[in-house]
Amino acid sequence: MRLNSVLDAIGNTPLIRLARASEETGCEIYGKAEFLNPGQSVKDRAGLFIVRDAEEKGLLAPGGLIVEGTAGNTGIGLSLVAKALGYQTVIVIPETQSEEKKDALRLMGAELIEVPAVPYKNPNNYVKLSGRLAEQLAKSHPAGAIWANQFDNTANREGHVVTTAEEIWHQTGGTIDGFICAVGTGGTLAGTAMGLKRHSGRVKIGLADPMGAALYEYYTNGELKSEGSSITEGIGQGRITGNLEGLTPDFAYQIPDDEALKIVFALVEEEGLCLGGSSGINIAGAMRMAKDLGPGHTIVTILCDYGNRYQSKMFNPAFLRDKNLPVPSWIEKKPEFDI
Ligand code: PMP
Repeated sequence: MRLNSVLDAIGNTPLIRLARASEETGCEIYGKAEFLNPGQSVKDRAGLFIVRDAEEKGLLAPGGLIVEGTAGNTGIGLSLVAKALGYQTVIVIPETQSEEKKDALRLMGAELIEVPAVPYKNPNNYVKLSGRLAEQLAKSHPAGAIWANQFDNTANREGHVVTTAEEIWHQTGGTIDGFICAVGTGGTLAGTAMGLKRHSGRVKIGLADPMGAALYEYYTNGELKSEGSSITEGIGQGRITGNLEGLTPDFAYQIPDDEALKIVFALVEEEGLCLGGSSGINIAGAMRMAKDLGPGHTIVTILCDYGNRYQSKMFNPAFLRDKNLPVPSWIEKKPEFDI
């Protein structure tokens, strides 16, 4: 394959069969390998579509600034798209996010503004700060600025309608019965759901929600209520974002971290796949949906990003013990062989 630029390397990711998840449930469970995107996450798609949409609307001048509040992966996607097209990125990030993601952002030449992690209702929440900063910079920077606004900008979800959903439909030869994933902005879930439903109303849609998020309660009891917490990053929403509007999942599950982590750790040992925590939530959700649909169905979920982005947290025994979470057996294993 010969591509014109890195932008053409975004998307068209393979589906990987998840052996243990499939065998345990009697369904065919596939993960869409989004960690193979050039920025190593599903959020490259949102980055590309948000920037292209702003260009089409005439909002971005050469050298212009793209400002965003992000848990990391969107920032990485936006930064690589920005570099490829001649723009700059300014990223507002909660300081609690993994150092690996912050390093990846610096590596991509983004300007990073770290802020304390406070809830959305607080005016100093990172998303709101990024919106205000974009407004100021739009006036003061000579080349202007836009706010990517991934949560409410539906160019994010549109990227999944026209790429992710189409790819999954064709990769499964139209045999897909269910699609499920977790929600950060909701772009991946709502966009892929919309695109798949256009092909066939038969495809069931599931939400996999981490603890501490409010959507499981919302889609089961109509109330935005949350309980508990999660170490997963990039997911866990407390409101109906612009990207989620109009979505009505057929199934909703709440997944505790230990269930997700056991899946992530087993995937390294048994299948050679090292994934981030949100992928664990997604696969756990796919397995629960498989049990509800019954054997013989084909279910697709998202492998959002790679495990190396969380080496200091999710793959760090001290961090895991401190949080009373399972520790992967191989990480502390003494060397077996000598020379
Ligand atoms: N997993 C990870 C690791 C992410 O960074 C994100 C995006 N914040 C998601 C899942 C959720 O994707 P979306 O924003 O499309 O809901």
